Amino acid sequence: MLSSKSRSKAPAKKPSKPAQQQMIDEIMRRFAAACPDPRCELYYRTPFQLLLSVALSAQTTDKAVNAAMTASYDAGLTPESVVAMGEKNFLHLIRRIGLAPTKAKRAVALARILIAQHDSQVPQDRASLEALPGVGRKTASVVLGEIFREPTLAVDTHVFRVTERLGLHHTKTADACSDVLTAIIGPQYLPTAHHWLVLHGRYVCKARAPMCADCALNDLCPSATLTPQAAARKTSQRAALKTVLKTLKRGDATVALPAAKAPRRARATAASTPAAVNR
Ligand code: SF4
Repeated sequence: MLSSKSRSKAPAKKPSKPAQQQMIDEIMRRFAAACPDPRCELYYRTPFQLLLSVALSAQTTDKAVNAAMTASYDAGLTPESVVAMGEKNFLHLIRRIGLAPTKAKRAVALARILIAQHDSQVPQDRASLEALPGVGRKTASVVLGEIFREPTLAVDTHVFRVTERLGLHHTKTADACSDVLTAIIGPQYLPTAHHWLVLHGRYVCKARAPMCADCALNDLCPSATLTPQAAARKTSQRAALKTVLKTLKRGDATVALPAAKAPRRARATAASTPAAVNR
């Protein structure tokens, strides 16, 4: 189960279907304008190498997988060479990535099956992919989308978190999330939407410190904590306060201080109090 805490405390009101579709179209339009050709950040030169890297990237970063595998991929790593290396040598190669012993075991088993059952090729159907050791729904979706350009949407922790914050799903598992997202995000946006959402989660809508003030989806997002307008207001308030403090430092007593805003409750009370009493 993926754990992702929604940042909006109150449950967001579910938008109507047309409104949701409009929002999705607008999100995709902005992603496309900002990044017309998003790429997978895992390094690979062949479909087999991508399959292997996606399987290795579970519970670890793409950067760590690239660091471990790039030289071998440039040297032409194939299913045959993985089998020839054996589990021990392969484990040494990937020793710095998470869950290395289990992944080494599975990688050698996966390479053996590809050789024996698929003529050393990556199969193009989901059932065959998911039957391989260490390959689940997410890995199969990435491979089908990236290599075969099928309209898939692999759900990793970034996709899950970003789309939850955007109010596009309220599910608890990656599989349920994938079902919802593939039903509402049109095939015209797939598989590219996967990369957009991953990159957005990795660099903007970060798990611990989402950069809402700089986010291009800020005005569409029910979880945004700071709209650009509010950020601008804050900046100009800070600038005004600085000017006042500077003037006071210079000893200019004629400076007009900005009127303090009364608390909301006090304002409400004042508004509802009869004028006679106010006097
Ligand atoms: S405004 Fe952007 S960064 Fe903030 S929660 Fe929404 S999608 Fe994430």
